[in-house]
Amino acid sequence: MNMPNEQAALAVAEESAHPQQPYTGSDPTLRSRLVEAGILIETGENGLYGRSEVFEDVVERLNKVITLLGADQQAEVLRFPPAMRRHDFEDSEYLKSFPNLAGSIHAFQGNDRGHHRLLEALDRTIAVGDEERSDEWMDQQKPTRLVLTPAACYPVYPLIARRGKLAEAGAIVDVFAYCFRHEPSIDPSRMQMFRMREYIRVGSPQQVMAFRQKWIERGSMLVRLLQLPFEIDLANDPFFGRGGKIVADSQREQQLKFELLVPVATPDKPTACLSFNYHMEHFGEIWKIKQADDQLAHTACVGFGMERTTLALFRHHGLDVAQWPAPVRALLWGDAAPMIAEGLASLGTPA
Ligand code: ATP
Ligand code: ZN
Repeated sequence: MNMPNEQAALAVAEESAHPQQPYTGSDPTLRSRLVEAGILIETGENGLYGRSEVFEDVVERLNKVITLLGADQQAEVLRFPPAMRRHDFEDSEYLKSFPNLAGSIHAFQGNDRGHHRLLEALDRTIAVGDEERSDEWMDQQKPTRLVLTPAACYPVYPLIARRGKLAEAGAIVDVFAYCFRHEPSIDPSRMQMFRMREYIRVGSPQQVMAFRQKWIERGSMLVRLLQLPFEIDLANDPFFGRGGKIVADSQREQQLKFELLVPVATPDKPTACLSFNYHMEHFGEIWKIKQADDQLAHTACVGFGMERTTLALFRHHGLDVAQWPAPVRALLWGDAAPMIAEGLASLGTPA
């Protein structure tokens, strides 16, 4: 498959790559510098952090700029808690691809005897040192009907399906949520709980591909305004297991996923701060989402990694936000609307 839009996406990718410049700009000391400065707060678990006022301030300001960037999309704004229905999650086939990343929610649902057993097990658990702690008390925990949301767009597809057939124009949804992925790491940009702002497109293949192309351009424009070095590259998801490589190769071959990469902390490769995903009719088929003409709907999403982009800003512009470059300060702390309008006007794709 080689649709004109895919070629356009690749052209953006090639244009933004700087092969003459070797990979530089990572900072393996970033995590300790941020912790020392009190910007990220350690909890004792890798990938789980508290955020300081200044970190949150940047996240919120970035989020507002993303809203300006998508203001003409007339997206339906929906906000979900960081959990979703277990039934919807089971149907999503997430466990087929990423069983290692998923997080389920368990709770005590027993009687007095069960409570007694739980407390006894807990006594034994905390009596030993931190290292040897068992998880014996958790034998009393039972699955709830909720799981942690793995990507902000997941609650949207079953919801759209429940509403019935799409209108001609399809649908565009705007979501923002904390997500969970069980991938503990000392890389500060690989967190276990982090926020994704997403725009999701549901409609015909043409509508969805045009949307993805538009957002590759808009995302690149935003990161340029943030004065961060970046490249757009073809990517694949980390599919699990032996069969995973075949699925990942096929995803690349079909050019389903692009990422906007910025050097952050890892010395060997830059970090995906934005992702542009085309799912074809994968979700349409699972939930029977129908276009106006009864064909299965296609879907795509653009995901802004809020923590990763914020970390990239601290990495490249320093830990003191007052010292960030004037245009970046103007965008985040000033009136961003004219800057975004000018940026949008300079792009090739119409609104
Ligand atoms: P990766 O390949 O690095 O694991 P991804 O491309 O699978 O990430 P997506 O599933 O497309 O990520 O998620 C959308 C966005 O969410 C990513 O572009 C990234 O900015 C952010 N993100 C993904 N995983 C993490 C994480 N562990 N910590 C912080 N942000 C993340
Ligand atoms: Zn998504």
